[in-house]
Amino acid sequence: MRGDIEMAVLEEPIKKVETVKNYINGEWVESSSDRILDVVNPATYKVIGKVPISTPEEVDDAVKAAKEAFREWRKTTPLARVRYLFRLRNLLEENFEEISRVGTMEHGKTIDESRGETRRGIENVEVATGIPSLMMGYNLEDIARGIDEYVIRQPYGVFACVAPFNFPFMVPLWFLPYAVATGNTYIVKPSSEVPFSQTKLFELIDEAGFPPGVLNMVHGGRDVVSAFIKHPGIKGISFVGSTPVGRDVIYKESAAHGKKVQAQCGAKNFLVIMPDAVLDRTVASLMTSVYGNTGQRCLSGSNVVVVGEDDAFYNRLKKKIVEITSKLRVGYGLDETVQIGPVRSADKKKRIVGYIERGLKEGAKLVLDGRKPTIIGDYPDTCFLNPTIFEDVTCDMVIAKDEIFGPVMTLMRAKNLDDAIDMIHTSSFGNASSIYTSSGKAARKFQYEVQTGNVGINIGIVAPMAFFPFSGMNDSFFGDRHGQGRDAIEFFTERKVVIVRWW
Ligand code: NAD
Repeated sequence: MRGDIEMAVLEEPIKKVETVKNYINGEWVESSSDRILDVVNPATYKVIGKVPISTPEEVDDAVKAAKEAFREWRKTTPLARVRYLFRLRNLLEENFEEISRVGTMEHGKTIDESRGETRRGIENVEVATGIPSLMMGYNLEDIARGIDEYVIRQPYGVFACVAPFNFPFMVPLWFLPYAVATGNTYIVKPSSEVPFSQTKLFELIDEAGFPPGVLNMVHGGRDVVSAFIKHPGIKGISFVGSTPVGRDVIYKESAAHGKKVQAQCGAKNFLVIMPDAVLDRTVASLMTSVYGNTGQRCLSGSNVVVVGEDDAFYNRLKKKIVEITSKLRVGYGLDETVQIGPVRSADKKKRIVGYIERGLKEGAKLVLDGRKPTIIGDYPDTCFLNPTIFEDVTCDMVIAKDEIFGPVMTLMRAKNLDDAIDMIHTSSFGNASSIYTSSGKAARKFQYEVQTGNVGINIGIVAPMAFFPFSGMNDSFFGDRHGQGRDAIEFFTERKVVIVRWW
């Protein structure tokens, strides 16, 4: 019990410490690797399982299986292909709560954040069941007298996914359902930090009865990724993760090996608060945008830019932000009363604390210092942080430029909206930005001018709905088509142009 709210810790679904297996050609296969890593629950800091760093030979086994499966799968009709997805969707729904709790145990996020993630993952499976109409081509009769021309969409072959740690269940589902619905076969490499919710997904894929080799999973790290990039049997890679890896390893090296690439990368996002913003609602929205997933979101709006020279407005807003932030309950995400979970690892906490120290050295002022966390319940403080707020932050400071990926808000000030937009454009990233205002004119100007792939008006950005692409610009995205919806379908299909003279 803390204050007047009773703790409510849900049952943990992972009960035994086991080493996860690879899923290749419809079978669970133990990795032959002698490199096995412990995975800890960041809240309890107990080992909850182990993950192998699989070998390039195991990648080769998966590619061979996927290549072989592709022969029949691409001939399976789209209607028959999506029947497997319908079955998977129903199984995901039946296992919704377990998947979500596994997500919290492996990652640390709150159970509600996990449930949101599971829901968004399932929605991608649902959207991909529309493939029979979504992957239709188009035609024009009489391009010359008696001659028609049309475009058909065809699958390429084997694709692979390299996933990040921050949305372990959802991210592969931005790609996988579209890849297989369009007739490709697929291999997923989850982040080795969080292998369990993907393992649960593959248990359900197995239960749904997909033909062997259509969907495969290989656990591991950069060796697996390097084997994907070099393997001639893989046609393309979907990557989500940090910019240095996405740009310099995945995008450049995959392109050099003739592969298609979609690399959704890092970010540093701004939230612009106009003096006419509705205060209470704006502050409530900031809480989820900045601290959601403990700040470990590529869409986290951590740079909060307050517009105008009215100090009274700035001080009112700051007071409200500090008041609400101070009340946020930090603890184990399986406690339903908790609002902020731990960060994923001790190393990540160390990195975030390093940024807080850097901010102080750069001359920013600490308004709230989260380095000594107050935790609900009896858990070690190894990965926990309370929310931190800086003010007097300027665009040239490292804390305003780098992706801190933790619960840290940096308050900045701009003279006017033009100034605020210029500040956003000092960032090399271009993932997301939001404006909070009551003025349609200001909102229109912001949407029109700002160079980010996702734009929010009176709302922080969350992952777009499954039928929209997950956009991004500049250092936040490399490749030709984004994940989800129509973009994903285009990424996974080749357009073939057919011309016919009828006789
Ligand atoms: P990361 O780049 O460290 O790892 C991502 C994946 O790449 C993992 O599977 C990892 O095993 C692999 N990897 C890591 N280093 C590698 C190397 N040198 N060579 C080959 N493979 C390597 O990213 P992360 O820390 O897991 O995830 C956080 C990052 O992901 C943040 O930058 C965040 O902004 C970004 N992200 C972006 C989006 C988006 O849609 N733009 C969504 C979620 C996360």
